[in-house]
Amino acid sequence: MPRAMYPGTFDPIHNGHIDIATRASALFDEVVLAVYDAPPKKLLFSTEERLDLARQALRHLDNVSVVSYGGLTVQCAREIEAQVIIRGLRNVADFEFEHQIGWANHQLAPEVELCCLFCDDSYAYLSATILKEVASLGGDFTAWAPAHVQAALHAKFPDTLHAPARGLSRSGGKLAHRG
Ligand code: ADP
Repeated sequence: MPRAMYPGTFDPIHNGHIDIATRASALFDEVVLAVYDAPPKKLLFSTEERLDLARQALRHLDNVSVVSYGGLTVQCAREIEAQVIIRGLRNVADFEFEHQIGWANHQLAPEVELCCLFCDDSYAYLSATILKEVASLGGDFTAWAPAHVQAALHAKFPDTLHAPARGLSRSGGKLAHRG
């Protein structure tokens, strides 16, 4: 069976990502989760932190390893000799996006196959963005990430630990306005 690469930002890794990595580990001999070092978006965690959180989250999966990379995803796939790129799908919006990126990757490296896996329904709306926003506002995110990721998020937002419910007066993000 081929080696698969599971690329992403993983800022930080959460239960939806872990679900996909677990499914992939059952399908392929080897899965390399690849943490993209410099995505065009603002990051909360450094590359080293994201690597460390992902390694801890996946250490129970013998055939899954974690690396970081820069540049083109298909270039990394070639370098680590992965024949397949894994991506997780939550919904139709993800499908549209992955289809487009998949097309570009296929133009660049036709020998690398794309394999999209659907996550469990319970993670269908979970994103790292929502996780970070809820964490930053002191909400309960215990169902969305493993304990060590929860601890890392609490460390990033220390003043929200055990935060009492707040009104709209100190709103910092979208979720603050929506309740
Ligand atoms: P990227 O910035 O490349 O989208 P992410 O870290 O956000 O990186 O996501 C990495 C991969 O994990 C992507 O394939 C994404 O669709 C998938 N993913 C994100 N959230 C979930 C989730 N809740 N369930 C399953 N897969 C997810």
